Amino acid sequence: MLLLGIETSCDDTATAVVRDGRAVLSNVSTNQDEFHSKYGGIVPEIASRRHASLLSAAIDDALDRAGTSLDGIDGIAVTAGPGLIGSLVVGVATAKALAFATGKPLYAVNHLHGHLFAAFLDTEAVPPYPFLALLVSGGHSQLVEVESPSELRVIAKTRDDAAGEAFDKTARLLGLPFPGGPALEALARDGNPKAVAFPRYRPEPGALDLSFSGLKTSARYFLASDAAKGVSYADVAASFQAAIVDVLIDRVERALDAREYRAIVLSGGVAANMALATAFRRVGDSRGIPAFVPERRFCTDNAAMIAAAADRRGDLDLRDPLTLTANPNLPFG
Ligand code: AMP
Ligand code: MG
Repeated sequence: MLLLGIETSCDDTATAVVRDGRAVLSNVSTNQDEFHSKYGGIVPEIASRRHASLLSAAIDDALDRAGTSLDGIDGIAVTAGPGLIGSLVVGVATAKALAFATGKPLYAVNHLHGHLFAAFLDTEAVPPYPFLALLVSGGHSQLVEVESPSELRVIAKTRDDAAGEAFDKTARLLGLPFPGGPALEALARDGNPKAVAFPRYRPEPGALDLSFSGLKTSARYFLASDAAKGVSYADVAASFQAAIVDVLIDRVERALDAREYRAIVLSGGVAANMALATAFRRVGDSRGIPAFVPERRFCTDNAAMIAAAADRRGDLDLRDPLTLTANPNLPFG
């Protein structure tokens, strides 16, 4: 099955053509960072306006690069939530119009469901079920048990900030440009991860919940304190990153202690972080199970993962444009 994917849930205008939920024939993404960076975060109104002006050309581009056309595809997959409502509406309304005009099936995809399978794009690997996914992005930090493409259970969530949000906010305190995660990682490369003993949130034994707001606040107090004078920003960045990675890896270890999984899978924008990816692979090695980490281009929001998720489930044909909503059977909020 050849699907056109459309993803406009946040600030990336993304389109793709994917065959059989796996082979990426094209993957187009226009990032809007230059329009949001001066505000230090994403401005929803700007994001939806940019999507409105970019999306038609991005769809043509994805079809052209894949050597196909609207006639050649078997259906359209679109992110229906969660996300910024104005941004989602642009993608969903466009997808509805295309489905209506062509008579082809329309698949409403939960954005997080897309992330879960991003590590299997453009690989020969078949997801070994059940697997444990660590989904870490700008808006979410969750552990998800994946029994099959349609049987998912969120077993842990953050109590406050998402990991990506913590990266972004602390990066801002360090005077780094938006988006902060990649910039903080680059700065951390020259730093000592043991320079500052930032706190790690540890719930009672067996509990899996995550929390990053205490860490974020502690970074703010540290930077305003006298102690900060003797420490470089690179050391602060490296120590902060190490604290986030420790918390995430500790929760993965706890989940693996509680149940047997056949693989662990990393996903979401923060999966692009090398320190996290390396520690995650190490967990897989020590447990003797495969650890899947997406290629960098599939970590951040992209439309290939949306087309792939629609293909894997195959039961989400919401061709009637009036009934298009995010799939209620998925547990994500
Ligand atoms: P998403 O919400 O999936 O689009 O992911 C975006 C989030 O991932 C933002 O909070 C980014 O700061 C974060 N991010 C992207 N790359 C990195 C990285 N290399 N290290 C840490 N965080 C990152
Ligand atoms: Mg995302």
